[in-house]
Amino acid sequence: ATIVVAVDGPSGSGKSSVSRAVAQRLGLRYLDTGAMYRAVTWWMLHNQVDVHDAAAVAAAADKPELVSGTDPAGPTITVDGIDVAGPIRGAEVTGAVSAVSAVPEIRTRLVALQRAAIGAGGIVVEGRDIGTVVAPDAALKVYLTASEAARAARRNAESDDPAASVTATQADLARRDALDSGRATAPLSMPADGVLVDTTEMDRDQVVEHLLALVGT
Ligand code: C5P
Repeated sequence: ATIVVAVDGPSGSGKSSVSRAVAQRLGLRYLDTGAMYRAVTWWMLHNQVDVHDAAAVAAAADKPELVSGTDPAGPTITVDGIDVAGPIRGAEVTGAVSAVSAVPEIRTRLVALQRAAIGAGGIVVEGRDIGTVVAPDAALKVYLTASEAARAARRNAESDDPAASVTATQADLARRDALDSGRATAPLSMPADGVLVDTTEMDRDQVVEHLLALVGT
């Protein structure tokens, strides 16, 4: 199938686990665009680029060699041949990614890579601007959301830091959402013809079944 499903929404809305499951059920590939922004951010930090210097980030935008695997059973991501799947989930990258992803040259580069992946066939793509910018012609555009408290609780449950406080997680989500929604280029927003799915009171399987019904399977 060459169907394209776009899944956008704020941090902790469950986009990743839901998108992977939907891709597996439909036999589609899966692309985590947040991981791409995280991998480029990791590269900037690793190469001593000041992530708060937009001109410096823009000047280096074409340098990281990114490769994203699209198997929903085991997504992979490498930059310059280095497996960064672990480090891109760390606090250092999470704290810097919104600044890097606000730089237009970074977005131009990653959107081109994302469109190339989409052009290769059926896929579920998750991010912040998939339905609005990357794939506005997607067959289904979903905007997943949930209350801030529910999103923070989920993030904490999946965190490998058992001491993390939900209050701190919630503050970090709110900070990142404000930056991602307020930036000039491709801010997080619901596609005009997207389907809003509020998952506050739903478990993952219910969300997956709901999306499969929306796709029409
Ligand atoms: O989805 P995830 O939380 O891993 O995304 C990390 C960051 O990457 C977001 O906070 C946002 O700044 C950026 N991002 C983006 N556009 C996308 C996907 C992610 O700007 N399509």
